[in-house]
Amino acid sequence: IDTSELIKKHIRTVPDWPQVGIQFRDITTLLQDPKIFRILMDVFLARYADQKLDLVAGMDARGFILGSVLAYELNIGFVPIRKKGKLPFATLEESYDLEYGSATVEIHTDACKAGDRVLLIDDLMATGGTMMAGKRLLERLGANIVEGAVIVDLPDLGGSKLIEESGLGLFKVCE
Ligand code: 5GP
Repeated sequence: IDTSELIKKHIRTVPDWPQVGIQFRDITTLLQDPKIFRILMDVFLARYADQKLDLVAGMDARGFILGSVLAYELNIGFVPIRKKGKLPFATLEESYDLEYGSATVEIHTDACKAGDRVLLIDDLMATGGTMMAGKRLLERLGANIVEGAVIVDLPDLGGSKLIEESGLGLFKVCE
């Protein structure tokens, strides 16, 4: 069994959550297994060890878990991109459409410097709206976004195509 299959096997699918018809990929089963969590983080570390990143930016909330472990191991800083209303200092914000309504995410205006090499990380790619909003925020700060990274890509929802069409590379551990 290869690493990506092993990781996938440890992600639980919860039917009809948070709404009827949604098959929610629940990564808590992966995180709570120390061997599998380490195997996962080692996949990201292997990919980013020699990329001379300056920062890891993680999307609220599961991107914080992955991003902070990765930043710590790479000896670089971590930047949270948060849901609106949580960050205390001056922020930039970007909104994106959801199936019903919209969502807004924010970043601190001093989160990075122009030209910083930043990795954008989240747990899962669905429609791509969340990661595209994170990308726009980092671009407004002048960051050089190295790529996006997720554990799971759900290609049928179109997000990975959208991201790649926008010119950002996407690294995914499994589908
Ligand atoms: P998107 O914006 O690509 O449609 O949705 C991705 C965002 O929603 C990510 O921040 C991700 O954490 C969350 N998300 C959507 N569906 C799922 C899911 O099935 N499992 C998990 N773990 N997160 C999801």
